[in-house]
Amino acid sequence: MRRCVRWRVVLVAWAATVATTGAASPAAAAPTSTWTVIESANFRLCALADRPTLDALAATCEATREQLCSKWLGKGRHAPWDVKCYVVLHPTAQSYLHEVGQGQMTAGSSLIEFGTDRLVTRRIDLRADHPQGYADALAHELTHVVVAQRFIERQIPRWADEGMAVMADAPAKQSLHLADLTQARSQGQMFRLVELVNLEQYPSPDRQATFYGQSTSLVRFLVERGGPQRFVDFVNQATAEGYETALRRTYGIETLGQLERQWLVELDRHSAVGRADAASPSGTHDRSVALKSN
Ligand SMILES: [Zn+2]
Repeated sequence: MRRCVRWRVVLVAWAATVATTGAASPAAAAPTSTWTVIESANFRLCALADRPTLDALAATCEATREQLCSKWLGKGRHAPWDVKCYVVLHPTAQSYLHEVGQGQMTAGSSLIEFGTDRLVTRRIDLRADHPQGYADALAHELTHVVVAQRFIERQIPRWADEGMAVMADAPAKQSLHLADLTQARSQGQMFRLVELVNLEQYPSPDRQATFYGQSTSLVRFLVERGGPQRFVDFVNQATAEGYETALRRTYGIETLGQLERQWLVELDRHSAVGRADAASPSGTHDRSVALKSN
């Protein structure tokens, strides 16, 4: 998805309803339909759906969580979450927007609330009726939830958080983000790296496409240098000791300026490869306007 704007927002009403009644009607549920709530090891799921459908969704959530934990946090058995992640599958955009509040075109949204030394709320809202489905949105939002476990003391920088989450999106959608970056670069609209990595909030709507494209590209560049877990360690160290110390220790890069120059060289190389592919008969064109609305 292209917006994750609900970080660190207190939201307790729905959670309290489920905890006490075992059933909930988030927003505009059809009055004659039944909300089913089930639990798995790490999730509590709620949907206007039958039990087999929810069981299948729970299995997908557990498997995706395991895969994302192994990718970003390291292999091995991961301790069950002490606070389960609520997953609400909304039947309509109206229901979804009533709960999420914004993000009309998105298929999913995550909510993570931090206590003093632990996560106290994990929640993902999904739109069952979204034209592109919600499978990608689930993986994207679950990346935010999984990675948050490593950033309880200090908030993960926005660029790193979104760049990692976009890596769970479908390749075609990642290509759209990178196309946004190409366009921003051609128009001289890119963020300077020092500006991007120090953004404390999401940028204004007119710069969000650039933000997602640039964040995606930068995270990919660093992950390709040392792997996903090393990247998470780098970001964690950067939030504690500053980017330049973390860059030097993790990647042998002395300054943000040096990182920017190396990243731009890589961007030029990919652009050249892309032009060569486009000129060849076997060049692929996976752009889809419809996907971009997700
Ligand atoms: Zn996101």
